[in-house]
Amino acid sequence: MTVIREADVIQSVADALQYISYYHSPDFIQAMGRAYELEQGPAARDAIAQILTNSRLCALGHRPICQDTGIVVVFVRVGMEVRWEAEHDLESMINEGVRRAYLDPGNKLRASIVADPAFKRPNTRDNTPAVIHTEVVAGDRLEITVAAKGGGSENKSVFAMLNPSDSVADWVLEQVPEMGAGWCPPGMLGIGIGGTAEKALLLAKQSLMLPIDMAELLRRGPQTRLEELRVEIYSRVNDLGIGAQGLGGLTTVLDVKVLDYPTHAASLPVAVIPNCAATRHLHFTLDGSGPALLEPPSLDLWPKVEWTAAADARRVRLDGLTPAEVATWKPGERLLLSGKLLTGRDAAHKRICALLDAGEPLPAGLDFHGRVIYYVGPVDPVGQEVVGPAGPPPAHRMDRVTDTMLGKAGLRAKGGTAERGPQTVESIRRHHSAYLIAVGGAALLVSNAIRSSRVVAFPELGMEAVYEFEVHDMPVTVAVSADGESVHETGPAAWRGRFHGVPVTVET
Ligand code: SF4
Repeated sequence: MTVIREADVIQSVADALQYISYYHSPDFIQAMGRAYELEQGPAARDAIAQILTNSRLCALGHRPICQDTGIVVVFVRVGMEVRWEAEHDLESMINEGVRRAYLDPGNKLRASIVADPAFKRPNTRDNTPAVIHTEVVAGDRLEITVAAKGGGSENKSVFAMLNPSDSVADWVLEQVPEMGAGWCPPGMLGIGIGGTAEKALLLAKQSLMLPIDMAELLRRGPQTRLEELRVEIYSRVNDLGIGAQGLGGLTTVLDVKVLDYPTHAASLPVAVIPNCAATRHLHFTLDGSGPALLEPPSLDLWPKVEWTAAADARRVRLDGLTPAEVATWKPGERLLLSGKLLTGRDAAHKRICALLDAGEPLPAGLDFHGRVIYYVGPVDPVGQEVVGPAGPPPAHRMDRVTDTMLGKAGLRAKGGTAERGPQTVESIRRHHSAYLIAVGGAALLVSNAIRSSRVVAFPELGMEAVYEFEVHDMPVTVAVSADGESVHETGPAAWRGRFHGVPVTVET
């Protein structure tokens, strides 16, 4: 009989969430290091270098890998012989751990959870509640896996009820190009096959908690049908040429995980959930002897990759930026931005466009004419920081309002991450604008370029307020040029079919 104390559960969950906010797991670092070595696409290699450099900076500085510090997902296995020394139920204990982790003043994490999701969507302010899955199992231990899942990658989840004779691999291969780059590759695909609709999705999420071991699997060769399927999907997805951040390259996925479960003879439920460059999860076991002891990883784990700006990167002054200068930016060109940059994301754009469409003035001091906006919702600063980690969210969410922002608001250019829709690309071309991307999953590296920050409008929106940043040499890539060429189209097209993986195929 093991007695588990409430205080140990709370502290272990809080410690684990802080830990994964700034430490990538060793398997992820090694796999990303291999992807860097393999990569031949210059833009993708540059992006992976930023991800690895950011990862090490976060480990050193104990600051979040990404500005989106995730929705907390917890898998709990409760041994049937466990006894509790607790005043609250298990979900309350876990949520108290989440609360303490996200409000930790030494490394405050971004609270991203909203209640009342279909309507008012108020932020719960402490990132609770977690999504908790509990199993009661044999034994006298409490096993917990905590994950912090990014919204961008979660939003790309897909599910289908296939016909039993359909090919799972072919279906996955149809889905991945549709996901675009909004899930911040390179990352992983978690695939759940079988059960019922909700079981397939749960299996897909659970599979993402497994360690990355594709290199080992390729070395020893697949020994089961599921391993053959993993290798086939891994090779074929990477052969699509999507690459890091969708810029075109050899590695889109570091691994493909698959879990299955018996299903109805009439059904073949399949779910895919991607995990991004900010893959974060940790497993620990409580045996009644106290809270989990989490060893920090050795800094020797990180490959000797230190991102520096490309020698041919163009330095751009944002203040007084002219349409003529924007028109000279080439697709895929790397820029270093200096000067004043406005920020804003979903909520601010909604308000701005409502005012513009109603013919009403914008708040005093808010003028977008000739300016560049960066879609961002940064983490709160701590200590001497000007701003916390401030990476870009997937920009397609702003597609609906881009034409208004470029036309009525007079914006010169904008920055985010991942591809834009065809109508937005056309709007960018028509307005002689441009769309720039920073690397999703390199948030601390980006924030190092921000020298000052002040709120310009909508302070009540918190991290979604409009800020003005003074930046120095902020690294971005031209994703859509003024003539409407998109690197998210041309990059993958150039790299399609060039992945030299192991071409194992299997009939499904
Ligand atoms: S890396 Fe991209 S998808 Fe992942 S948490 Fe960050 S912004 Fe979201």
